[in-house]
Amino acid sequence: MTDDSNYARSLIEASLDPLVTISAEGKITDVNLATERITGVAREQLIGSDFADYFTEPDKARAGYKQVFSDGFVTDYPLALRHVSGRITDVIYNASLYRDAAGRVLGVFAAARDITERKKAEEAARAANRAKSEFLANMSHEIRTPMNAIIGLTHLLRRDAPRPDQVERLAKIDAAAMHLLSIINDILDISKIEASKLELECRNFSLESVLDHVRSLVSEQARAKGLAISIDTDSVPGWLRGDPVRLQQALLNYASNAVKFTERGGIELRARLLDTADDTVLARFEVEDSGIGIEPDTLSHIFNPFEQADSSTTRRYGGTGLGLAITRRLAELMGGAAGASSTPGRGSRFWFTARLGCGRGIEPPAAEAARPTAEDDIRGRHAGVRVLLAEDNAVNREVALELLHGVGLDVDVAGDGQEAVDKALAGDYRLILMDMQMPRLDGLEATALIRAHPARRTVPILAMTANAFEADRRACLAAGMNDFIGKPVDPPLLYATLLKWLSGPPSTAQRPAEPAAPPAADPLSRLAGIPGLDVGIGLASVGRREASYLRLLGKFVELHADSVGELRAQLPVAPEDARRTAHSLKGSAATLGAVEVGRLAAEVENALKNGLPPEQLEAPLQALEASLSALNAELRRRLPAAAG
Ligand code: ADP
Repeated sequence: MTDDSNYARSLIEASLDPLVTISAEGKITDVNLATERITGVAREQLIGSDFADYFTEPDKARAGYKQVFSDGFVTDYPLALRHVSGRITDVIYNASLYRDAAGRVLGVFAAARDITERKKAEEAARAANRAKSEFLANMSHEIRTPMNAIIGLTHLLRRDAPRPDQVERLAKIDAAAMHLLSIINDILDISKIEASKLELECRNFSLESVLDHVRSLVSEQARAKGLAISIDTDSVPGWLRGDPVRLQQALLNYASNAVKFTERGGIELRARLLDTADDTVLARFEVEDSGIGIEPDTLSHIFNPFEQADSSTTRRYGGTGLGLAITRRLAELMGGAAGASSTPGRGSRFWFTARLGCGRGIEPPAAEAARPTAEDDIRGRHAGVRVLLAEDNAVNREVALELLHGVGLDVDVAGDGQEAVDKALAGDYRLILMDMQMPRLDGLEATALIRAHPARRTVPILAMTANAFEADRRACLAAGMNDFIGKPVDPPLLYATLLKWLSGPPSTAQRPAEPAAPPAADPLSRLAGIPGLDVGIGLASVGRREASYLRLLGKFVELHADSVGELRAQLPVAPEDARRTAHSLKGSAATLGAVEVGRLAAEVENALKNGLPPEQLEAPLQALEASLSALNAELRRRLPAAAG
């Protein structure tokens, strides 16, 4: 060997990275010391053997080798090498073709890098991040419990006829508590998402009601600034399947920023249909404003948690810098992405995409759980009813007691789980409110024992807990609880939930034989006597929420104005679609108490299912058409204008 080649050889042997050359036939032609060390095989044995034999995944190694021939090289190709002792080393390869002086390909030159340590460090970082997220989630949970006392007691003080200056201070305490709670909720959400603990719901919902609700949540601030908010849903189907609460949250983060950062002009909430496939749609949601806008170099990082455009913005507008990060994560959970474009001084357009299922039918929108008059309703309809409250924390017990006494309920108290079981079995309560963490027996155990008693199978048991995870919720339901009230207790929501269960579980809701005669000013009274409309049934199926019922009737008129015409058009070309139209009309009508239309639509649906010839369809179709148009005409005449 010449001096030059000796020198080159010593360089190769000095390399800490395993180096190898492989012939065009896949046999090893040369190796360095590092290769001997990492495989535990001597150089003489390595040379001439099949290179792929030393990897845990020989096929993947061969695929990489082939790629070098097709592309000329590979970089950072991950593989794992096996030492004769069985020890595995994670490596990444850079490899390329090498040639002789005449340019003929001699084979592949490959250099490996041991990444075992790097991988360990990455895993440790991931674990640490997860631990941090779990810590944050637990901490947020701990903070929510005392918030319960602050918000609940403030609510009670406001009812005790305070002086005007006290009213003002209480309003400030309430606003501060709500603000703090929203920050805690944001932190809880982001940490739940990062700890992979956020699970999305999947149910039917109306897109319009989600957008409407977002608009209503920011409308007061917008009105104060003179901003108009418009909604455009383009061709996105009206009914979708997915998690309406999270969709609303993602949109609300954009919409409240838009209002916050806009002084004049308006805001547009938009939904666009990008793609449909297999009963799902890919929708793009946009919120466009005519506000202060964002500098291009800032735009790239405002979606990171805790990032804000600049500190002066923060001082002026407040906020935590979590809203956009949450929206992006939620969009990703919904199979989409999020981003924004903006012109400083002109305005911004924030968007996200989401893959959602195609939904069906009319359901009461869950977003509207709180009903302002639930409190009065309980007082009027259920005063004196006996309920059991199981809660060990003295302050929380006082808050809950006050809230329950405030609506005239007769409350017994249990200070721990065992006492709750004893009292529940001895007394005949109409409803039980159950804290989750209690001494002796926790809420889940106590519920299971109560349910084990045949006479206590149906008494509604409502969990009260600061545990906001979906898994906790499921555990409550699995233990036999009926519903779930989050802590801090939001009084209107508590009353709405109580009312729902005191009025009987939704499936067995009592239908009043005749709707109670409402006062003349009540828009419901205007619906009395419409042929084929049973207001009692309709109200029961929306949890007796009159405003929802009126609104849904308005929706019904709008959606089904020409359902029969549509069905006739579908019949010759797409009979399956026609059947679906009949089915959806039947479902909506039945839910809302439009019994006659529901019955006739069911007849048409059955006829279509049984493949009746067109001439035999005509009679039921005409009956349905007549009944539907009469009902719609009546509803149009009698519904208050705002209900549509
Ligand atoms: P927060 O609003 O709580 O600070 P976000 O994550 O919602 O947190 O927003 C991060 C930052 O992005 C805001 O502080 C603001 O600087 C900027 N930003 C968000 N939306 C808009 C908008 N519509 N117009 C101008 N700036 C915006």
